[in-house]
Amino acid sequence: MSIELEIRLAAFAWIRDQTAWNAGIFAGTELAQGFDYQGRRVTLKGPSGIWIPQGFAMPISITTALNGPYRLDDIGEDGLLTYAYRGTDPSHRDNRGLREAYRTRTPLIYFKETRNHHFQAIWPVIVLEDFPASLCIHAAMDPAYAALRPNEDTSTIPYSPLDLRRYAWTQTRQRLHQSAFRDMVITAYDQRCAICRLNHPELLDGAHIIPDADNLGTPIIQNGLSLCKIHHAAYDQDILGISPDYRVHIRGDILQERDGPMLLHGLQELDGSCLSLPNRPADRPDKERLDARYSKFLSAS
Ligand SMILES: [Zn+2]
Repeated sequence: MSIELEIRLAAFAWIRDQTAWNAGIFAGTELAQGFDYQGRRVTLKGPSGIWIPQGFAMPISITTALNGPYRLDDIGEDGLLTYAYRGTDPSHRDNRGLREAYRTRTPLIYFKETRNHHFQAIWPVIVLEDFPASLCIHAAMDPAYAALRPNEDTSTIPYSPLDLRRYAWTQTRQRLHQSAFRDMVITAYDQRCAICRLNHPELLDGAHIIPDADNLGTPIIQNGLSLCKIHHAAYDQDILGISPDYRVHIRGDILQERDGPMLLHGLQELDGSCLSLPNRPADRPDKERLDARYSKFLSAS
């Protein structure tokens, strides 16, 4: 395997490791700095949308900026990403690199700017179709490449554009929405748990008031709560409830237990306390949704 593919796979592993803590949202500065691979610095994103790191023949990533010049760039209803060439010259080095990735089925990372200089990572992304006349490509997320091992040849991976489209539709959009939701919610709460005020983003989730699958469970900020891992799990398990007046309620049987400091300070003492709400009134949890969810908590008590 070429050194370029080896580094590319190391980049995917790095992105995956970071994602465990940041839910796939990266600061632009962090990506520009990249990571170390055997003493060599590998940048993951640069000033241009199609990014070919030093010593590479093909791009490692393609990026869509929030207010970028390429209005074409987006993921459509079919889950396919349409991505514009750089400029209007198909033989520009960046565009040639992109076509080379298409020809060799080399996977890339797609960064989509979700807010000011913060990017959602979607990977591995594969170029499915090339349209030199329209100066763009179609790409989609391909799960087969996620399991790629360093000694594997990419040309041995079965290639099925139809399956890819189906997968792309569900997975890419879902991933984008989930991370964007988390990012939006914990930002509104100033990166704190609404219940205990814990200020460690790596321990925070964007919790849904009404679950995802439900009709009212839309991924909007008013259906979200920034909660630490413990309080998120406790909310989902109906160990704690939140009434529409923004008060925390701990289930009766939990209040009766006797145990260590986590139970005492982390749950029991919070009974009757008030939520810490976002500064912007428009970002506060929707009372109707809280009420619906609170009824479920009461029936579980
Ligand atoms: Zn908490």
